[in-house]
Amino acid sequence: MIRIKELSADLKAQIAAGQVIENPASVVKELVENALDAGATAIDIILEKGGTHRITVADNGCGMYSEELSLAVQPQSTSKIATVEDLAQLLSFGFRGEALASMATVAAVTLASRVAEEKIGSQLTVTQGKLGAVTQVGMSPGTSVTVTKLFEATPARKKFLKSEATEQKKILSVVVPLILVHPEVAFSLIHNTKTVIDVPAQTPEERIAAVLRLHSGVLFPFEYSDQHYTVAGFLGAPQLANKGSHRQFLFINGRPTHRSDLAKVVKDAYGTLLEPRSFPVFILYLTLPQEMVDVNVNPKKDTVTFYNETAVRTLVQQAVVEVLEREDLHYTSHGQGFEALLRTKTMEPVTASVLRSDIDPWTVKDFSLDDSAEILQVHNLYLIAQTSHGIVIIDQHAAHERILYQQFLEAFEAKKSQLVTKVRPQVTVTLSTEEFAALSEKQAILQEMGFLLQFLGDAIKVKAVPTLFSGRNFTELFSEFAADLLSDREISELDSTTHRTLAFLACRTAIKAGEPLAQDERRRLLEKLFSTKTQFTCPHGRPVYIDLEMHDLHKLFKRIL
Ligand code: ADP
Ligand code: MG
Repeated sequence: MIRIKELSADLKAQIAAGQVIENPASVVKELVENALDAGATAIDIILEKGGTHRITVADNGCGMYSEELSLAVQPQSTSKIATVEDLAQLLSFGFRGEALASMATVAAVTLASRVAEEKIGSQLTVTQGKLGAVTQVGMSPGTSVTVTKLFEATPARKKFLKSEATEQKKILSVVVPLILVHPEVAFSLIHNTKTVIDVPAQTPEERIAAVLRLHSGVLFPFEYSDQHYTVAGFLGAPQLANKGSHRQFLFINGRPTHRSDLAKVVKDAYGTLLEPRSFPVFILYLTLPQEMVDVNVNPKKDTVTFYNETAVRTLVQQAVVEVLEREDLHYTSHGQGFEALLRTKTMEPVTASVLRSDIDPWTVKDFSLDDSAEILQVHNLYLIAQTSHGIVIIDQHAAHERILYQQFLEAFEAKKSQLVTKVRPQVTVTLSTEEFAALSEKQAILQEMGFLLQFLGDAIKVKAVPTLFSGRNFTELFSEFAADLLSDREISELDSTTHRTLAFLACRTAIKAGEPLAQDERRRLLEKLFSTKTQFTCPHGRPVYIDLEMHDLHKLFKRIL
């Protein structure tokens, strides 16, 4: 008995198609890549219902002759490679000649195209693999591809499509990287008649500003090469880092790619400049000889491997460290670097001035104590004192900073729900569905905290906030609140911006490393430090003092073992 049989041609085609086309986002990705391959300088994307109803991608590229239309939708037909060597030298996006054929198997595809030297264009519709007739159509040079009835003939697949909002999100996550890496091309994206993106041809900086809303002041451009490779791009200032990886972009030879290991290399290079579980912003363009890259590993072409993985990781790591050092942001230049980064964006003028007006920062200078027990200051940096059980070595700047941080924190706690400021004009914040749901459950608590909010369908209208939070980026603030709730914590009002503002105030007000201190000033610093609630680490995580017990000293000198 023979139980194994060959699948029908139809079924084979469906299965193959499923590997390339899994959702509206993969349709959009393939169509935009084709338009880019066709040399388009303007690409318009029109979506209905998250692309589940209709997707149109129109370009002004080289177009196709009418006889080419039916070839374009044949499997393994492509104008992009002809020989095996071409495959190795793969430079264009498409190469398998599979995308249009796959779409034509699982959807209805209408191709309309005109080459510049023809006066009229031609059009062809293929529905679930069945070719229609080629007709003439008036159009300007270029190509327009419309995909409807996606997965209509395969209800099992259609069931896997998510909500309109989720599919739109997935589309954006494939389109945004392509838009970023092609600033020379004008793009528009319209969803359900609403314009989501509309950008002319731009410089890379302009494109980043327009799409990611990140401006040059908080992005550090760089270019770093060695013999074979170049890594260039932009690193975000540490304070831009947030809880998600959606502002991390990696392009390898112009191709959007995801490599979590390289993202980690970047994150690690930021070191202590970043809070734990935050994701630095980066846009990296990695260029290496095509023969050292292997992209042909899966049909969607979005994973890339290299022949020398270690070399690539080292290059990226060195590049990032170098930029952070150049910008004086590296953790080896901690004190000054930390200030430099705080100065740029996290200083919240309102928060700072409310706190400043309310507290008279305690200073070392106006204190005197006549006690003869000596405290040693070494290199105007560390203080050494005898304790009941041994000695203590104190970092004078870190210690003062810790004390002041605590003071500013107490002022913040006391002030935070006392004053409420109206938000004028009112601000509307849109969050992810999850975040929105989490916050709307806690409306009462937010109101107690002093936030007057109106929860609309999927957005929050901010009407009034505690004065200490006015002028804030509410999207960031609320997504932090939501993150707390989503990980089953209470809302922490000490959000990261507040924390950084307090740390900034403390850092600026504190005595510096390198400042000589008189004997009584040293004493005052120590006394205050040891009466401060949390005295162990400075606001950015470094130790404030090291306590050596006699026992430890004896061990060091091998008096005891
Ligand atoms: P591939 O891109 O891998 O070649 P596709 O199925 O995506 O395969 O496209 C098949 C062929 O159709 C392409 O090689 C190209 O010649 C032609 N084509 C597709 N889209 C366009 C377009 N927007 N403009 C011009 N030609 C196109
Ligand atoms: Mg293609």
